Amino acid sequence: MQKGAIRVQTENIFPIIKKFLYSDHEIFIRELVSNAVDATQKLKTLASVGEFKGELGPLEITVTLDKEKKTLTISDRGIGMTAEEVDKYINQVAFSGAEEFLNKYKGQGDGANIIGHFGLGFYSSFMISDQVEIFTRSWRPDSAAVRWECDGSPEYQLEETAKEDRGTDIVLHINAESEEFLDENRIRAILEKFCKFLPIPIKFEDNQINNTNPAWTRKPSELTAQDYQDFYKELYPFAEAPLFWIHLNVDYPFNLTGILYFPKITKGYEIQKDKINLYANQVYVTDEVKDIVPEFLMLLHGVIDSPDIPLNVSRSYLQGDPNVKKINAHVTKKVADKLDEMFRTDRKGFEEKWESIGLFVKYGMMTDDKFLEKANKFHVLEEVEGGKFYTQEEYRQEVQALQTNKEGKLVILYATNPVQQDSYIQAAKAKGYKVIKLETIVDAAFINNMEMKWENVQFTRVDADIADNLVDKDEKNDHVLSQDQETQLKELFGQQIPQPNIKVELKGLSAEAQPVIVTRPEFMRRMKDMAAVGGGGMNWYANMPDEINMTVNANHPIYLQILQETDNDKQQKLVRNLADLALLSQNLLTGADLTAFVNRSVELLGNEKKSKIILQ
Ligand code: ADP
Repeated sequence: MQKGAIRVQTENIFPIIKKFLYSDHEIFIRELVSNAVDATQKLKTLASVGEFKGELGPLEITVTLDKEKKTLTISDRGIGMTAEEVDKYINQVAFSGAEEFLNKYKGQGDGANIIGHFGLGFYSSFMISDQVEIFTRSWRPDSAAVRWECDGSPEYQLEETAKEDRGTDIVLHINAESEEFLDENRIRAILEKFCKFLPIPIKFEDNQINNTNPAWTRKPSELTAQDYQDFYKELYPFAEAPLFWIHLNVDYPFNLTGILYFPKITKGYEIQKDKINLYANQVYVTDEVKDIVPEFLMLLHGVIDSPDIPLNVSRSYLQGDPNVKKINAHVTKKVADKLDEMFRTDRKGFEEKWESIGLFVKYGMMTDDKFLEKANKFHVLEEVEGGKFYTQEEYRQEVQALQTNKEGKLVILYATNPVQQDSYIQAAKAKGYKVIKLETIVDAAFINNMEMKWENVQFTRVDADIADNLVDKDEKNDHVLSQDQETQLKELFGQQIPQPNIKVELKGLSAEAQPVIVTRPEFMRRMKDMAAVGGGGMNWYANMPDEINMTVNANHPIYLQILQETDNDKQQKLVRNLADLALLSQNLLTGADLTAFVNRSVELLGNEKKSKIILQ
């Protein structure tokens, strides 16, 4: 028997390992099973090049619990180790790896971020074990089996032992604080999390845990749509079917495979980030893909597998890593290309999915200029009625004759609530304008952003002004009232609408337009909307009274009638009712004002009847 001291300067290495990995004790399983997979694959390689000539037999990895002995054993039938190899790889290399790691990251205190492949894999078993034994026998003919044992102190034992089979058993004697790892449900859950797609069969309690050939590792040409759908179900058993997907497959200048799925997003959909899982050679690493995937694509689902993402460094470093930057740019480009292709080859299908896709596309256009450049060609604007879609260019072609303002800017008219804004939409349509729908949560920010990024474009909400003024063309509208009549009408409105936040203006619109039209100026409304969703520092906007423009259409025939009315009280009430009707259509009439309106209307209707009866 050989006894020795593991050559490390840091005497108390284990307390430090424990401290660093504290929050993630369960990763020891990932590390040990990964080692077993590596050992098995190495043997397969040796067999394929003819160096190993024996029987491979069933190459599976088994995980076994013994509650009585309080052990957890990971067994493989891979290459195994000779006594010299144990000495080299376990006593020297692994420990020096551990030491290097600790020296590098000591004092960072950011344990959760540094888990992963730092060559410390095997020693993570001491986080949860009092004692660890290795029983191993090399694939090399005539090599003796050896047993290595260590209790977490720098002293180890190495001796010959009897072991029939080629390969390695790692026996963990679970310590008192870690008895959770003697629970089969816990072990199964951990195996399913980390080992679900490892390439060698993993068995636990006679069941195979993993799918050794997950879709992303296969060639896109071998896969049917159904295969992609099935794999999605495997990842998210409870999710609704995805809309479409992108298969990533790069091997130069970095290695990346994966499948990104676009989920279906409808109104009220709860946006869940962290749905993309990151793998390194089929080993699950994390669901935190920040920096690797651009922010706007974090809503996607699926898998990214890359051995080229440095996992052993803190997050802030990841941002600056050249591979991570390249991967990020690649993913963005792939997504843009896919959307572009869908738009060109199946525009109808693309439009049908726009409700879901639009959210990604708009986020992307706001946050990523490279994406914006491509997306400008497939971003579409949906008309409020009729379900017609226009690209920005198509919209411009269609409406520029009518919707260009005096500064030469294209005015994109939009509605945020087609039902509530219907009367304004109809008025705009009557003028030949095309109103589009912008009703999702990102739209307010999108509008502001695109006004800066798109050239010569201005967005105006359809109820921001009377239809005649939506596109500011500097035209004068005369009206039919005499000077006296105009003064009289202004007085009537002045008496009825004394609120300082309501600005009354007399204009000559078409006789068919409504007699009174209430609008909220675009700028103020946007500020208030943004304050309402919590724009920092904008709170005082939220508390400002609503600024309202009230346009009196002097050409509406009803005013000639009202001005002839001899009953002054009734005249006042009719004017007030017209104003209230307009406020009501904008949802601005509430409380006591609304009650007064209802009572007044009933009263006016009663008078109407009385006068009719008298006439008869
Ligand atoms: P890493 O896996 O990052 O190299 P580890 O500490 O996990 O670091 O393992 C150190 C070395 O021990 C491995 O590189 C490998 O050579 C050897 N080893 C570990 N587990 C096994 C195993 N199950 N079978 C054969 N060799 C192993």
